[in-house]
Amino acid sequence: MILCQKKPDWGVFITFALYVNIRTKYMKPKIWLSSPHMGMMEQVFVKEAFDTNWIAPLGPHVNGFEADLQAFTGASHAAALSSGTAALHLALILLGVKAGDEVICQSFTFSASANPIVYQGATPVFVDSEKDTWNMRPEYLDAAIADRIAKGRKPKAIIAVHLYGMPAKMEAIAAVAAKYDIPLIEDAAEALGSHINGQMCGTFGKLNILSFNGNKIITTSGGGALLSEDGELIAKARFLATQARDNAPHYQHSYIGYNYRMSNVVAAIGRGQMVVLNERIAARRANYERYVKLFGEINAKGFHIELLPEPEGFFSNRWLTTITIDPAKNKGITREDVRLALDVENIESRPLWKPMHLQPVFADAPFYGDGTSEKLFDQGLCLPSGSNLGVEDWMRIEEVLGRVF
Ligand SMILES: *Cc1c(COP(=O)(O)O)cnc(C)c1O
Repeated sequence: MILCQKKPDWGVFITFALYVNIRTKYMKPKIWLSSPHMGMMEQVFVKEAFDTNWIAPLGPHVNGFEADLQAFTGASHAAALSSGTAALHLALILLGVKAGDEVICQSFTFSASANPIVYQGATPVFVDSEKDTWNMRPEYLDAAIADRIAKGRKPKAIIAVHLYGMPAKMEAIAAVAAKYDIPLIEDAAEALGSHINGQMCGTFGKLNILSFNGNKIITTSGGGALLSEDGELIAKARFLATQARDNAPHYQHSYIGYNYRMSNVVAAIGRGQMVVLNERIAARRANYERYVKLFGEINAKGFHIELLPEPEGFFSNRWLTTITIDPAKNKGITREDVRLALDVENIESRPLWKPMHLQPVFADAPFYGDGTSEKLFDQGLCLPSGSNLGVEDWMRIEEVLGRVF
């Protein structure tokens, strides 16, 4: 059969191929991993801030947002701050972490969990994850503390993280913290609304942090909060977060202060987002269920893609749906194959967090673990998980995943 009488015109062919490539990449709207999703009330609250000229830092929406956070989580006290990172930094300051100290931190996390340790001139000591929740493994936490104490360096604090919304094994972690009498900080930046048997993430530690950055389950554009049962610590946090002004008519300072408070305009967005938080959690959990169904169908064709089920009593807000792909069990397909196939279609996905003990900047920090988080980093992928994914978005995502597998 003669397919082509003339010699093919490669110039035309290549131009056309480039056009198709660019068209698919840039003409279809981007599907984000997790993008802001506003409700009906944010602009109403922001307008109120403008109408009453409460534009300066602090104001009634800040107080209102703090009350909303307390009511939702059950925390006794909350301070709204400029970011989750600022909240963690204040937590370490309040616990007296100083230059030369050591602080234990989950290795498998975003760098913002560990950076504030270094802001204080202290050294992070990283602890690996366990397989059920991907969070800090209590046995390694215990071993790490025992070893640091044997070296004459008892850690000043422990930072546990609830990654992707999945609660860490807080009962066991808190027991280790209590055994050695070391204060526990919960990094619940990704876990607002997650709980264990009804106790909300953000209420387990001595000081606990939330984030409202742009891609979190709710966002104020940027912001964070510090939660605690200890009202004195939160009062101190508010003091330090507003430049540590002594009680005097002039500006007088007995402590180094920070400009870490949330503004009234930003808090107005937060109050609007709190109205829809439960809907956002339901939507993210529905995303997870949809992926479970999709990968159930794919696995029935001879693949073995794993999701992360909730342990008994654990409730995840499913901030991001994550999968792990072992190429040995998936006909050689790697998570990079999946990520790149989605990327060509302008769909964002992302490898799981690169563990902190593998980060160049933390190369010298001690680490206690067995490689669990390294394997997760090698094989894991975060899938588009926004609460605002539409019917067409899902068609595109399912088409690519169906094609790859
Ligand atoms: C987002 C995040 C933070 C930092 O919060 P910001 O508000 O962005 O400063 C800290 N820890 C974890 C695990 C996060 O995901």
